[in-house]
Amino acid sequence: MTEVITSYNPSESQVLRISKSSFGTYNKCPRLYYWNYIVKLSPPPNDAMVRGSMIHQVLENSLLSEADMTVADVALKMGETDLGIDALDELMIEIYDKYPDWELVEAEYKHEIPDTVEYEDEDGNTHSYDVLLVGKIDGVFKDKEGRLIIVELKTGELGSSKVSRTRKELNFYRYMLDKAGYNVEDCRYMVIAPDATNTDVALKLQSSKGKEVLWGTTSGVAYVEKYNKRSYNLGTLKIGKTAHFINLEEWPMIWSEYYCPEWCEYHLGCEQEMLV
Ligand code: SF4
Repeated sequence: MTEVITSYNPSESQVLRISKSSFGTYNKCPRLYYWNYIVKLSPPPNDAMVRGSMIHQVLENSLLSEADMTVADVALKMGETDLGIDALDELMIEIYDKYPDWELVEAEYKHEIPDTVEYEDEDGNTHSYDVLLVGKIDGVFKDKEGRLIIVELKTGELGSSKVSRTRKELNFYRYMLDKAGYNVEDCRYMVIAPDATNTDVALKLQSSKGKEVLWGTTSGVAYVEKYNKRSYNLGTLKIGKTAHFINLEEWPMIWSEYYCPEWCEYHLGCEQEMLV
């Protein structure tokens, strides 16, 4: 494999880095990927992003604490106060109570895993690409049967579209761990959403087969689900397809005739181009 350098530069034979975010972004809108990863126009972090990073840091410090500090202990030490942290603290206590046998395998470990992905085009030709799978997973636990539980922390409200987007992200992580040599057979996904207040979504999850839901007292839910083989296979097939179209430098907009269904921060530029 050639040396890994950048998120994108096929013309210089460098290896494409694929993270869950870049993969998700290309599949949401190739033009958005172009702005974020090629032109690197990423807007400065907003308040929600700063808060999200802080809450992730609190969880990471708590998971990795050798002194077994709770989320509340860590937040106190960091001088952070936030209702989401209170809810996260409650949820983590519930999780440790409900699953006392879970052992932490890793938290926020920086993976960089070489892989070769394939895409079969419409004419039946197979294209192969060397890529580097990159990412830091919020947490990975192992239960007493040796099954992995891949954890994703989500701040903000938990709507049904976020549930399905998060499942795709966790599929990406399962694929990455598989390529890293972990035993991911029969693994579980855990989503921790301390800000969630949408009880309809949580109740729907609770009534679904194979899912367990934990409720915070004021806000927040966490749920565990088995990975779904069909959705996993469909999602991971797209990694090869994504590498193929990035390599072809294809950045179409997802604009319909009159509007963009995603309407991201670059809509003014896209709108102008649509009007030309
Ligand atoms: S406005 Fe729409 S089409 Fe343009 S980059 Fe954003 S998501 Fe893509």
